[in-house]
Amino acid sequence: MSDSLKKEERIPRNFITDIIDEDLKSGKEDHVATRFPPEPNGYLHIGHAKSICLNFGLARDYQGTCNLRFDDTNPVKEDMEYVRSIENDVEWLGFKWNEIRHSSDYFERLYGYALELIDKGLAYVDELSPDEIREYRGTLTKPGKNSPYRDRSVEENRALFEKMKQGEFEEGKACLRAKIDMASPFICMRDPVIYRIRYATHELTGDKWCIYPMYDFTHCISDAIEGITHSICTLEFQDNRRLYDWVIDHISIDHHPHQYEMSRLNLEYALTSKRKLNLLVTSGVVDGWDDPRLATISGLRRRGYTPASIREFCRRIGVTKQENTVELSALESCIREDLNANAPRAMAVLHPIKLIIDNYGEAGVDATSFSIPNHPDRPEMGERLVSFGKELYIDESDFREEANKQYKRLKLNHEVRLRNAYIVKAVSCEKDSSGKVVAVHCEAVPNSAGANVEGHKPKGVIQWVDVSNCYRGKVILYSTLFTDPNPGSADDILSIVDRNSKIEINDAVMEAGLKNAKCGDSFQFEREGYFCVDSKNSKDGAPVFNLTVALRESKKSTEVATN
Ligand code: ATP
Ligand code: MG
Repeated sequence: MSDSLKKEERIPRNFITDIIDEDLKSGKEDHVATRFPPEPNGYLHIGHAKSICLNFGLARDYQGTCNLRFDDTNPVKEDMEYVRSIENDVEWLGFKWNEIRHSSDYFERLYGYALELIDKGLAYVDELSPDEIREYRGTLTKPGKNSPYRDRSVEENRALFEKMKQGEFEEGKACLRAKIDMASPFICMRDPVIYRIRYATHELTGDKWCIYPMYDFTHCISDAIEGITHSICTLEFQDNRRLYDWVIDHISIDHHPHQYEMSRLNLEYALTSKRKLNLLVTSGVVDGWDDPRLATISGLRRRGYTPASIREFCRRIGVTKQENTVELSALESCIREDLNANAPRAMAVLHPIKLIIDNYGEAGVDATSFSIPNHPDRPEMGERLVSFGKELYIDESDFREEANKQYKRLKLNHEVRLRNAYIVKAVSCEKDSSGKVVAVHCEAVPNSAGANVEGHKPKGVIQWVDVSNCYRGKVILYSTLFTDPNPGSADDILSIVDRNSKIEINDAVMEAGLKNAKCGDSFQFEREGYFCVDSKNSKDGAPVFNLTVALRESKKSTEVATN
C-alpha cells in the first residue's frame, strides 16, 4: 500500500454503517457477515470495486466475515475464465474472503425449498410461454391476470416439477412460479418465475440439473444459508426486497438475512455493465477485457492503477442512496496522487529531434553522465546515473525557431535548462526537405549543471535523452474510449468508440535504464505523465509503456500535452 493513500482505509460512516451500528447496539445482530456475489459472466469493473470495498471493508472494520460467492445460476453465460479473473481481482484489490461459495453449492437445498413452497400451495408449474407470461404480468398501470395453470393441485405441481427436473419438457415449455399476487403494485411480486429449464452444461454441476433457480429465489436463500447479516445490493433491487423477504418468510430456514440497497457507481466515460463490456471485447474494438481504456479492474491494473488508488477512490465516493455519475477526474486524482508520491522519475522523449551541443567537450561542458535523484522529495529513493553527451534528443514540441513570451521552452537565440544538466542556448537549426526541424545546434553554458550562473536565467526546463546511450521503445498514449461521457446510455456502443483513443508511438526514446523496467513498474516521465510497463506486450529488455494518467487534469483529462 502506498503511504500517501494509507491515511484512512476504514470505511467512512454511511447509512449502512449506521444500520450496522444500530443492529449491534440493539442486539439484533451480534456480528457482521457480508458477501460479494458476482455472476461469473464477465470480468469485474470499477462498479464492482465499490461493492468489494464496501462488503470486504465492513467485514474488516467490524471484525466480521465476507464470503466471495459466485452467483452461478445461468450456465449459458458463465465461464471458469471469469471465475479465475474475479478471484484474482478481489485479491489484487487487497481483500481476502472468508470462504468461496457458489450458488450452485446449494442447488439441492434450493430444490428442497421449491418443493416446500409447492407443498404449501405457494408455487405452481406454469405452462404459459415466456411471451404469454410477460403479457399476463401486466404493467405498472395495469394489474396482471392469473395464469390458467395457477390453481393446479399440490400433487399435480409436484408431478410436473418432477417432470421438469427429469428433462421431460422443452426449454420454455414449463417453469415454476411463486404464487403471490398478480395484482401487486410491485411487478416482481406478480407470481415471479423461480425455476426455469435450461439444457446447458454447468461448469460445476455438469449435466446433473436441467432446471435452474432464478436470482430472486437463489440469492436470499444463499444469504440465509451462509448466515449473511447485511446483504448489500444496488438500488434496482429495491422492489425485489419484498420478494427476498417473502421467500425467506415462507420456507423453513432459521436465519433471516436483510437486504439493503445503495446507489450504483456510475463513472463518466466508463461502461459498468458486463454485458456491454462483453460486446466490446467480442467485437474486437478493444484488446481484451484488460484493455487499458476499459474501467475493468484488470484494465485499470494494466493501465497502471494501484490497488490503493482504487480503494481510495471508493472511499472518497462514499455509500449513499443518491444516483449520480462520478467525474472521471475523481478516479484520476487518486492514481495521480499515489504515483506523484511513489513513482520514480525518469526522462523520456516521445517525438524526438536532435539537440547538438556544439561546444561539448570544452572545459565545464564535458560531463558524460549525471547522477539524478529518483524522486525530488524522497532522497531515500536514491539516485541513478543518466548518461549525457554531445548529441541528445529533445521533444520536437520543445523547440521553436520563433515564439512569443508564453513559450517557455527552447527558441533560437534563447536559453533553456536541460533538466538536471546544463543551460543551453539555441544557435541554429537543421531542417529536412519538408521544412521540419530535425536538429537544433546549441551552446552550453560552462559549469551550469545543477548551478545558477550569473547572467543566465533560463525561463524553462526541458527533458532530454542521450543519443549514444538510450532505450528506443514503444509508448502508448490513451484517451477516453468513448466520445460520449455517458456510454451506458448509448443505443449503439460501437458507434461512440473513439478510434483515436489509443495512439502508439513506436520510436520514443528513453533514458537507458528504462530498458530494464519490469511489469508492475511505474514512472513519472518528467513533463509527460505517469507511465507503467504494459503487462501484455512487454518483453524482457523491451518494455512497452502505457500512459496511466497525465500530470495534471486537463479538459480532455487523459491526453498528454504534446505542444
Ligand atoms: P453487470 O451488469 O455488470 O453484470 P451486475 O450487478 O449484474 O452488473 P453482478 O456480478 O451480479 O453484476 O454484481 C456483483 C455485485 O456487484 C452485486 O452485489 C452488485 O450489486 C454489485 N455491483 C455491480 N455493479 C455495480 C455498480 N456499478 N456499483 C455498485 N455495485 C455494483
Ligand atoms: Mg448480474
